[in-house]
Amino acid sequence: MTEALREKLIHAGRVLVDEGQGDYVWGHISARLPDGSGRFLMKPGCIGLEELTADNIITVDIEGDKTAGDWPRHNEVYIHSEIMRARPDVNAVLHTHPEQAIAFSSLGKPLAAMSNDGTMFSAGVPVFSETTDLITDQPRGRAVANCLGSGNVVILRNHGIVTAGRSIEEAVFLAIKLERACRIQMLAEAAGGPKLFVKEEELKAKRTRTNRSDSQGNAFSYLVRRWHLRCGCEVPKQYQATLENFDRSGYKAG
Ligand SMILES: [Zn+2]
Repeated sequence: MTEALREKLIHAGRVLVDEGQGDYVWGHISARLPDGSGRFLMKPGCIGLEELTADNIITVDIEGDKTAGDWPRHNEVYIHSEIMRARPDVNAVLHTHPEQAIAFSSLGKPLAAMSNDGTMFSAGVPVFSETTDLITDQPRGRAVANCLGSGNVVILRNHGIVTAGRSIEEAVFLAIKLERACRIQMLAEAAGGPKLFVKEEELKAKRTRTNRSDSQGNAFSYLVRRWHLRCGCEVPKQYQATLENFDRSGYKAG
C-alpha cells in the first residue's frame, strides 16, 4: 500500500512540473498514510517535484516532525500537517508557486466564472493574506488551514496556492485547474478585461459537471501517460489507455 502511494506521489510530482507548477526545488506534495497514525509521505527539500523517488520521499508526523527518510524536510511542512490535522477527510495536500496564480493574486480581484475552469471555483476561492511570507511554523499552518475551512483550495497572496484533496489525483487536478482558471482570466484582463461570464443560472450545474471525481482520476491517468509517452518510457499498466483503466461513472452510456 505504501509502495503504491509512493509511486503515485512520484507520478504527481512529474505531472505537476509538466503543467507549469514547478518552481525549481520549491513546492511540495504530501499523502496521508492509510494506517491511521496521522503520519504522511512528503516530498523532501533540495530537489524538484519531478525528482521524487521511492527512496527520497520522507515520512512526517502530524506535528510536522520527520520520522523517516534521509532527505531534509521542507520548512513549510506545517501547511500539510495542520491541514491534515484539521481535515480528516483530506488525504493529500499540495503547495506550489504557479506563476499565473501568483500574478493573479496580486491583482486583488476575485476569480470569475469565465471558463470551465473558472466555473469550477465559482463558489469562491479564499485568499490567505495574513502574511505573504513562508508558512514556517504551526500557528501559520493553522491559519492557512482555517482559511481553507471546509473548502479544497486556497490562494496564498503573493506566494502560491494550496490544494487539499481526498486523493492525490484530486489535489493535483485542483492545482492544475486553478492555475488554468487564473491564466484564462489573466488573458482576458490583459485584453481589456472580461465582459461576458457564465450565466448565473448555469453556474451550479456547470460547477458540478466540471469537477467530477471520475474526471480527476481520468485526467491524472492521462497526464501520467503523456509524461511517459513523451520520454518514450513504458506507461505503467494502471495508467495505460485501456477501457478497464477508466472511471466511466460520469458518462451517461456507462
Ligand atoms: Zn511556498
